[in-house]
Amino acid sequence: MIYLKTDEEIELLRENNILVSKTLAEVGKHIRPGVSTKELDTVAEEFIRAHGAVPAFLGYQGFPASLCVSVNEQVVHGIPSSKCILREGDIVSVDCGTFMKGFVGDSAYTFAVGEVAAEVWQLMEVTKEALHKGTAQAKAGNRVGDVSAAVQEYAESFGYGVVRELEGHGLGRKMHEDPGVPNYGARGRGPLLKEGMVICIEPMINMGTKAVVFEQDGWTVRTRDRKPAAHFEFAVAVRKNGPDVLTDFSIIENALKN
Ligand code: MG
Ligand code: MG
Repeated sequence: MIYLKTDEEIELLRENNILVSKTLAEVGKHIRPGVSTKELDTVAEEFIRAHGAVPAFLGYQGFPASLCVSVNEQVVHGIPSSKCILREGDIVSVDCGTFMKGFVGDSAYTFAVGEVAAEVWQLMEVTKEALHKGTAQAKAGNRVGDVSAAVQEYAESFGYGVVRELEGHGLGRKMHEDPGVPNYGARGRGPLLKEGMVICIEPMINMGTKAVVFEQDGWTVRTRDRKPAAHFEFAVAVRKNGPDVLTDFSIIENALKN
């Protein structure tokens, strides 16, 4: 069941996703060698609650934290831990959710810890650009497959692996609504995109093989070859004239400059 949102509902989703963007910016300011991923989780939880929202991930299907923090070969769903200390040259994917005024925000950003190798930097940039390529297809009259194919084609043109086991999703009063939004697929296929749909587009792109392993902790997903992975996520409202991106990465990127 795909729920179409009213303009008022889209604005509530935007409020949530701007708060997620601000939370990711706050987390980004704390990312440096020596910090634990648990410390980042605490920063996020306090920031979200101070802004009148609730961390949407905390307790979701039993998830024990406010953020998913996934380092290097971890693709997504890493559990924050005081034992996981960031080191110079790591990359860290931070996925954040909020719940406020009856709606959910959900966005993700991959950060560099200090200086990272050029090939790792390229993986991050290409994954973010794949997100933009997919987002450009999120307009009424297109199909989910147009989004999926745009992400896949761009990422694969660099020889990267596109994760198959996890995908984007509809977003609304619940974090995971229909339709699923895979990062691979064929143009012209899949559900029709309609005015008022809100979807999360979230490429998970591996430097090496697309194959992933689900860890014994019940959550963490890592690359099978242990090469790094990147993850960026936008919440996007589908409009007649094109995509309306509800997430704002410029908030994060401006915070990183200061
Ligand atoms: Mg997310
Ligand atoms: Mg999501």
